[in-house]
Order: sequence, then C-alpha cells, then structure tokens
Amino acid sequence: MISYIDTHCHLDGEEFAADRQQVVERARAAGAEAIFIPAIDLKSCHSVLSTCAQYPGYCYPMLGLHPEEVRSDWRSQLSSIRPLLSPSSKTSSKTSSGMNISPSSFLLPPSSKNPSSDISHSTFHIPHSTPSSPLSIGEVGLDFYWSREFEQEQLLAFEEQVRWSIETRLPLMIHCRKAQNELVNILKRYKGELPGGVFHCFTGNEIEARELLQFDNFVLGIGGVLTFKKSHLPEVLPASVPLDRIVLETDAPYMAPVPHRGQRNEPAFVREVISKLAEAYGVTDEEVASITTANAKRVFFC
Ligand SMILES: [Zn+2]
Repeated sequence: MISYIDTHCHLDGEEFAADRQQVVERARAAGAEAIFIPAIDLKSCHSVLSTCAQYPGYCYPMLGLHPEEVRSDWRSQLSSIRPLLSPSSKTSSKTSSGMNISPSSFLLPPSSKNPSSDISHSTFHIPHSTPSSPLSIGEVGLDFYWSREFEQEQLLAFEEQVRWSIETRLPLMIHCRKAQNELVNILKRYKGELPGGVFHCFTGNEIEARELLQFDNFVLGIGGVLTFKKSHLPEVLPASVPLDRIVLETDAPYMAPVPHRGQRNEPAFVREVISKLAEAYGVTDEEVASITTANAKRVFFC
C-alpha cells in the first residue's frame, strides 16, 4: 500500500471550490496521508486556515508572503501575517513545528522536545485541536521571472521571513525562480541557524541541486515537471540528489504530471510522479513513497 504526502498543494484555491471534497477523497484513495497547503498572501492565509480546519489531521497550513505577491504594501502584509504564526501563547517555548500537530496521524512517537507541561499538545490523540497551527513558513522566496519591479522589496520580505523561520523554528517552504544566486546569498547569512525546509518545484541542474543541498535539513520538492517530456530531472536527480533529500508535491492546481498535463492538478496525481521517480532511481514505487514520506516528516515535524 502506497502512502505519501503532498507537501505543496493550493487546495484552498477557487479551482477546488466546487469539488474539494471529492478531490480529498481521491487523494486518500490514492494513498495521500496528508496535504500541506501554502498561503501566498494575507488573504490566502485565512483561506488556507479555513480549508485546513475543514480537514483536521489531514490538511496542514503553511503561512507566508509569496514573492510574486510582494508589492509596496509588503511591510503591512508581513506585520499582519506574523501573528498568525504564533496563534497561542506557547510560542516562546516552542522548539519545533511538530509539537502543534499530533504525531498520531503520522505514526511518529511523541517528540522528546514536546513541552510536556502543555498537556493539550503533548499527548498522542489531539491532531485536531490546533488546526490553525502552521507547519511551515511559506510559500516565500524570490521570483524574478516576470519582473524585477519589486526586487528590493522581495529581497527584504524574504529575509524577514527567513528570520521568522529561525525565531519560530518553523521550516521554510521556498519558491525560487530566476533568483537562485540571490536566494542562496541570503540563506548563507543564516546557515547553521535555519531549521530546514523545502526548495519547492525544483527544476534546476546538478550544480544548482548541489548548491541548494548544502543547507542541512533542506530537501527538494519534486512534482509534475519531472514527467514532462523535455525535463532533465530524470537524469539530474539520480546524479546529484539522494532520494532522502526529496519530497513530493503537486503545486496543484498547477503543474499536472503527464498524462494529465494541461488539466487541473490534484494530490491523487502524485502517483505519476512517484512512478517516474521510481524509474529514475531504479527502486519501487513503495520505496519512493516511504522514503519521501519519511523525509517530509523529518523536515516538518522534528
Ligand atoms: Zn505554490
């Protein structure tokens, strides 16, 4: 039985308004054991939280300001988003994102770092008590693909959110397009302090992969692009990225894998990505699913 995690899915989007329940049912039937939902701005932080509240113990929120949403109002966006990362008063003693989520749904033992003084968060069976507790800061990053109009603002907003990651110990869900040098320069300033994260939708070459993997407890998010006919990823990944540095994602509704390319993507389609990765690494689908699931748990819950 395949069991996997979709670590990046915009399930709160209006593309899923009409049939979100069926999408979740198909995800469960395909073996998705959890879905992580990233926000892109303040407004979407609230839609992500409300979608996650509808699927407690299954959908988990990630909150942040996406680089393409960084404009002149970025400071006020950030100051409104920041309190959402600390929904309760226990943040000062918080050492890990995992303690806000019951490990039971992930079959993990309680972390020794759990604050046992906080009973509601230290037991095994309260997955649904804190649906608003974010798993990660995301999606954040840099994107100079379309425009550099807000380049300075993007750099400042990203760095600010990197500091949040260090303060809260929540990992980063990073979006990066046409900006790897700038991105790596910022992350290097905090190397050693970062709790970890995902470089989502990785599509680069071997050199770029190695450069990103210099950061401990960071992994590459791999989705539908892997299956595209012209993708170099089936060669690049086995040559430069150990399977224990990969997590699965859809980026749904975008980036649907072959044979669904061009359609709305959804978590059940991750099965196509799993098969392609298995072929590329010469392992079974089950191995890909179990290794990438362990990777996601390590990055997000430990
Ligand atoms: Zn995304």
